[in-house]
Amino acid sequence: MTDADPDRRPHLFRAPIDLHLHSNRSDGTEAPAEVVAQACAEGVATLALTDHDTTAGWAEAAAAAVAHDMTFIPGMEMSAKDGWRSVHVLAYLFDPTEPDLLAETSRIRDDRIGRAERIVRNIGRDYPLRWEDVVAQTDPGATVGRPHIADALVARGIVTDRSEAFDGILHPREGYYEGHYAPDPLTAVELVIGAGGVPVIAHPAGRERMSAQTLRRLIDAGLGGLELGHRENTAEGTAELRRLAERHDLIVTGSSDYHGAGKPNVPGEHTTTPAMLQRIIDRGSGSAPVYPVRAR
Ligand code: AMP
Ligand code: FE
Ligand code: FE
Ligand code: ZN
Repeated sequence: MTDADPDRRPHLFRAPIDLHLHSNRSDGTEAPAEVVAQACAEGVATLALTDHDTTAGWAEAAAAAVAHDMTFIPGMEMSAKDGWRSVHVLAYLFDPTEPDLLAETSRIRDDRIGRAERIVRNIGRDYPLRWEDVVAQTDPGATVGRPHIADALVARGIVTDRSEAFDGILHPREGYYEGHYAPDPLTAVELVIGAGGVPVIAHPAGRERMSAQTLRRLIDAGLGGLELGHRENTAEGTAELRRLAERHDLIVTGSSDYHGAGKPNVPGEHTTTPAMLQRIIDRGSGSAPVYPVRAR
């Protein structure tokens, strides 16, 4: 047995491994501890909490993971933009107090509030929706997004669920949409690396794909990996990016993108191999996994 082969090293964590879940610290519908409990109930043994632009759920999720004998990987899904295309950068094992990354995520979160107010004002011209309706659907301090506006539309009886809201009123083609501040993907990747973290592009073969040129720049800047296992990735795009990942020896992950009742995604529906998680752990230096007490 050789330490050079990550598949043969003893792991302090167990599979199945799901590295992309959301709580109500952003746009998931459950508290961090409930997300951990749901992942455990689905058989997941190792999970990362990856709320949009915030680490506010880490402490609660870590404590819940210990209570469930699971391994917790600190994470976040950072908002970025490649021109008009939204790009999501998953970040693992970074230092949550690193000033530059902290300043940028605070700026994104703050701008998301004004942007949500503008969207609500636009919708309010045609539908009985007010800002207070959205506030009522948002956990205090949570990263605000269109899902909270969707929940307010549901509470008002204007639509039946989040998906109907996203397919209709919240879709940019309907004219109510407003964007929010986000850095370009290269800046996001550099900030995550600067905080000791491992950047992985979320659902890179989904509908809003970044340009091949942008992706090449990210790889040159030290991109860690690609989330190739995700229900929104297309088969063709995934096959193409898998070849790219092999060529550049990138980490490849698979995850659920669980949002509680906010999306049909189920914890563990896509998973990451132990060898790939080991590569993330070997590289991440800004924070540490929280292992089950028994495995130490
Ligand atoms: P925002 O970042 O505020 O523009 O909102 C986008 C977020 O909404 C994404 O991160 C998804 O988590 C969520 N989302 C996108 N489409 C849907 C959908 N059809 N149903 C529920 N949530 C969605
Ligand atoms: Fe989300
Ligand atoms: Fe995403
Ligand atoms: Zn996500």
